[in-house]
Amino acid sequence: MTEQPDDRVLVAIRTDQAEFHVAGTRHGYHCSKCGCDLSIAPAGQRFLKENPHVPVLCVDCALAAKPDKVEAAPGAIDELIADRIRRAKRHQQN
Ligand SMILES: [Zn+2]
Repeated sequence: MTEQPDDRVLVAIRTDQAEFHVAGTRHGYHCSKCGCDLSIAPAGQRFLKENPHVPVLCVDCALAAKPDKVEAAPGAIDELIADRIRRAKRHQQN
């Protein structure tokens, strides 16, 4: 495996894009490029804990800087899908 950890970035959702926040999302992070407010889901928080040197970027900055490095944190997509299902079920019950 020829992984280059220093090349990776963690892409986070902007705090004002609440429709993408899953349960357990934490606020108070900032884009290391533009400084905007960011929120990180539990999968991203785990990724950041294991890779504390990885810069956090908002989607816009990540796509502008490293389009081929932009990917969700491990488990983030599953987390988002699970959250969507949970929300859909809640809507059915109401
Ligand atoms: Zn940014």
